[in-house]
Amino acid sequence: MKKVEYKTTKELKLLTDKNRTEITSFIKKLKKKKPKNLDNIVHNLHDEAFAEFDCLDCANCCKTIGPRLSGKDIERLSKHLKMKTSDFMSQYIITDEDNDFVFKNHPCPFLLPDNYCLVYESRPKACREYPHTNRKRFYQILELSHKNCETCPVVFDIFRELIKIT
Ligand code: SF4
Ligand code: SF4
Repeated sequence: MKKVEYKTTKELKLLTDKNRTEITSFIKKLKKKKPKNLDNIVHNLHDEAFAEFDCLDCANCCKTIGPRLSGKDIERLSKHLKMKTSDFMSQYIITDEDNDFVFKNHPCPFLLPDNYCLVYESRPKACREYPHTNRKRFYQILELSHKNCETCPVVFDIFRELIKIT
């Protein structure tokens, strides 16, 4: 896999649109007949990509999408910031159209100008797991990952590589 290069979300959206038909038919093909070792292939691509690509040079996810937060995330973050949970909620959290807790604003209120995360050790579980390319049963999140191609340059390149090699 070639070294991943940073792309803005605007560039990624254009590229994802340009490749939409190809990626959609690739997903259909995978759903019909999933390669047995799909998780291994994707995990290897993930490791290869992130060995060379530094999220601090990107932060597209923190700038544009933001995580869903669980009750535990909210408790942990309030504690980290030495705030009452109720104050933390009113300052930072809203519920979205699916009734999930999300940050009020984008970029994330805890994203620092150098792309470091102010609450890194206590960050939400969804932030730790994004972009999900090292999770088990990748075939269950093919559509979500297609959507993530518009935000994450690593996910976009993993799809490009998967199409080439599977
Ligand atoms: S996970 Fe993806 S979108 Fe987020 S900072 Fe890393 S490369 Fe960028
Ligand atoms: S909490 Fe940290 S990792 Fe999560 S979106 Fe905000 S800045 Fe990014």
